[in-house]
Amino acid sequence: MSWEDDRTDIRPCPCGKGNSSVTYRSDDWGRHDEVWSMHCPQCQKTYGLYCYVRNYEMISETYYLWVPKQDLRELENLEAAIQKHEDGVAAYLEHQYGVQWMRHFEGKSKKRVWTELTNDGQCYPQLSTFYGQVRGVGLERVLSGYLRYDTVDTVTHLLNLRDSMLASHVRRMESLKSKLVAKNKLIRAAGVR
Ligand SMILES: [Zn+2]
Repeated sequence: MSWEDDRTDIRPCPCGKGNSSVTYRSDDWGRHDEVWSMHCPQCQKTYGLYCYVRNYEMISETYYLWVPKQDLRELENLEAAIQKHEDGVAAYLEHQYGVQWMRHFEGKSKKRVWTELTNDGQCYPQLSTFYGQVRGVGLERVLSGYLRYDTVDTVTHLLNLRDSMLASHVRRMESLKSKLVAKNKLIRAAGVR
């Protein structure tokens, strides 16, 4: 089941003095692939390949663009900063509120716990999914899974927290995340195919 080259497109490179190519390949399973290569020595130094996936209903498609390496580095740095902050928020929640969070649910039925976590079913997960999670890893693991950035609102709300340190962590995360969205948008608008 090997890949076969279907055709190769030659395109001008971003600096205009050379070219790049895209080879379209497919295999016996009906899978498609693209191989992007830069042939201009100048652009090899300054441009890198940026890749992103877009989902249309059930189909996801991968897109490629040539973008300045500087932009790729900035993206990497932003993503690393976000990861670091996410880890920081999780560690902070665990350290400051881990015990209080577990105690909050002590003696409550599973249904009651679910009702609180989802604001009576208004957000993920459905009751049956929740029961499945509890059966799978135990209630304690499910609950400790909430001590992270994505669910910080749930923890803050249920424990009725007024924590300015936590709030500033969250604001910093929001700002980093919106920077990342803006950066990706810029790159996609300016990238060269
Ligand atoms: Zn070039």
